[in-house]
Amino acid sequence: MATKITDECINCGACEPECPNTAIYEGGAEWEADGELHAAIDEDLYYIVPQKCTECVGFFDQEQCAAVCPVDCCIPDPDIPEAEEVLLARAKVMHPDTPIADPPPSRFRT
Ligand code: SF4
Ligand code: SF4
Repeated sequence: MATKITDECINCGACEPECPNTAIYEGGAEWEADGELHAAIDEDLYYIVPQKCTECVGFFDQEQCAAVCPVDCCIPDPDIPEAEEVLLARAKVMHPDTPIADPPPSRFRT
C-alpha cells in the first residue's frame, strides 16, 4: 500500500525532508515528477503522492514519515495495496543511479 496522511495532520512539516522519494508535499504545493508539475492533491494539509511513495522499500525498513510524525497520521492506504515487488521496482526507476541492497531494506521484512 502507498502511505497516506490523514486529516489528523498538524502541518508540522517533520515528514517532508525524511522521504527518500520526495513524495511528500505541503498542502497547496504542486508536486513534481520527471520535470513536470502537477496540481496539489490536498490544499490544506501535507500529502503524499502515491505514484512516488515506495513505503520506503529499498531504503529503510520502516516508513520514515510514520517514524517521525508526532501524531501518527502517516498510515498505509487501504485503497492502494501494492506488493513489495512493485514498490521495489518503483524505487529502482526513481533512483537509477543508486545501488539498492539485495535483499532490500523493507518494511515487509521486519
Ligand atoms: Fe516517503 Fe517512505 Fe513516507 Fe512513502 S512511506 S511518503 S516513501 S517517507
Ligand atoms: Fe503532518 Fe505528521 Fe507530516 Fe507533521 S509529520 S506534517 S503531522 S503528516
